[in-house]
Amino acid sequence: MAHPKSRISKQRKRKRRTHYKIAAPHVLSCSNCGAPTLRHRICEACGSYRGRTILNKAEAVEEFDNTIDDVEVED
Ligand SMILES: [Zn+2]
Repeated sequence: MAHPKSRISKQRKRKRRTHYKIAAPHVLSCSNCGAPTLRHRICEACGSYRGRTILNKAEAVEEFDNTIDDVEVED
């Protein structure tokens, strides 16, 4: 197995790791509703992507309510 020839000092290790950074996410505002969204993602608020409605949020909620009504609860 590969083995380091010599120990890396704390200073060398820490200097190398100064370049490890978290990139900030590219947040845009939705062209349809103005809510903050990520690039190349469907808008979480209105369900649109590139000017087209992909997810109908109101329909989805209605469907969910209907499925809840169908479930019978035993006491
Ligand atoms: Zn939107």
